[in-house]
Amino acid sequence: MQTNMLINGEPVAGDGAALPIMDPATGSEIAQVHEASPEQVEAAVRSSEEAFEGFSRSTPAERSALLLAVSDCLEANQDELAELESLDAGKPWPSARDDEMPLTIDTFRFFAGAARTMSGSAAGEYVAGHTSMIRRDPVGPVAAIAPWNYPLMMAAWKLAAPIAAGCTVVLKPSELTPLSTLRAAELLNEILPKGVLNVIHGAGPTIGDQLINSPQMEAITVTGSSATGMAAMRAAGNQIRHVHLELGGKAPVIVFDDADIDAVAETIRYGSFFNAGQDCAQPCRVLAQDGVYDRLVAAIEAQVNQIKTGAQKAEGTEMGPVISASQRARVAGFVDRARASCEVVTGGTAGEGAGYFYHPTVLANVDNDAEVATREVFGPVVSVSRFRDAEDALRIANTGRYGLASSVWTANVGRAMEMTSRLRYGFAWVNTHGVGTPEMPWAAMKGSGTGCDMSVYALDAYTSVRHVMVAH
Ligand code: NAD
Repeated sequence: MQTNMLINGEPVAGDGAALPIMDPATGSEIAQVHEASPEQVEAAVRSSEEAFEGFSRSTPAERSALLLAVSDCLEANQDELAELESLDAGKPWPSARDDEMPLTIDTFRFFAGAARTMSGSAAGEYVAGHTSMIRRDPVGPVAAIAPWNYPLMMAAWKLAAPIAAGCTVVLKPSELTPLSTLRAAELLNEILPKGVLNVIHGAGPTIGDQLINSPQMEAITVTGSSATGMAAMRAAGNQIRHVHLELGGKAPVIVFDDADIDAVAETIRYGSFFNAGQDCAQPCRVLAQDGVYDRLVAAIEAQVNQIKTGAQKAEGTEMGPVISASQRARVAGFVDRARASCEVVTGGTAGEGAGYFYHPTVLANVDNDAEVATREVFGPVVSVSRFRDAEDALRIANTGRYGLASSVWTANVGRAMEMTSRLRYGFAWVNTHGVGTPEMPWAAMKGSGTGCDMSVYALDAYTSVRHVMVAH
């Protein structure tokens, strides 16, 4: 198993402590991966700074060709990468392979095209006798921090856009799930020029902290929790750095009386419990209009009771374990604190065996301001609450810290347009939830972050707008 990091074009073992990598389905150790030492973090950062000098002057066509080669390479190795991902994160094997790998690969393909699309305002004489032009240049070496829920896909989101923009990247995957990223780094080292990608391994508060505070890193990009986003903001505040954050969410699913209830219930089954609910856009906070509430709870219960949990390759597994024992304890804590004031429709208990399983859980009659309805659980738990009318739903949904994903379910197009225009969320789906594509932004508002991943708008985080003026 490949456990080396990638520093300045060389595979190197970490000189720091060995961290155990666990199989969440069994609770047993898969491998040990050594953390980077502080000197190795410095070496990675130096390599990124040195490589930036040349790479920032590559042409869009050259970067596009590299990104296409990366996507072809990932595609050729997708079985192996999905195998690692499934093992390391406890994901059902078909999901790791057929749901995540295509989007991971396509992200690089999309940015191969996006690299060649950057444009600016027309050049012209805005001051008599002077010609002005706008440039968009790569912002500098980027410190990239990725989470454990979709390790390789999130790494792809953190890499493809900056590389398309002409930036070099030092990437730190989550210390819980480094295996697919370390193997991908080994593969990409055959394609990318030395120093364009450095990958280091280690804990957030030490190795991650050193990376985001390194003076050579001109931008910080994080996908992770609010706490890590705040750490990045503080690091940027110390040195004035560009910051791009994709953080947590608490997606409201607003279901009007005229909605297709079966479609909502199916979406809850296949969306809320996908990846054991560990998804920033998880449709986790159902708001049901009074007239449809009882029917919706019954339909969701019927769907969710069919979910089969199990190990990665067990026949028929639809949902795997959560990532760690501490994450399961966190999820159970939310449910246990909520129990007394709501109805546990299904689930609400840990699974059997040594793995970190938690039964798919639906809580009904949840107060709209209850902890479980307003804070991110990041596990297989869905709450169902009530609302009266559109104004009530908007007030409930727009109160609170998060602003990532949302959805509206109604047969009334006018009402859908009104709701989506007023929901303060980076994305709003109508009569669906969770469908993503690289052409469209995965955008954050409020406490869920700044800017977006994917789409040409992702390039904004990695480019600086510049003015060049020539006196005649
Ligand atoms: P996390 O913040 O605990 O860890 C994410 C990464 O940050 C890890 O690599 C970790 O080592 C690193 N880190 C932690 N503390 C750090 C510090 N002080 N300095 C530098 N790096 C540090 O998050 P997680 O538990 O891995 O992921 C779950 C969170 O990610 C959830 O809140 C989820 O909603 C969010 N997420 C958001 C998106 C999105 O697109 N908005 C996508 C996936 C996950």
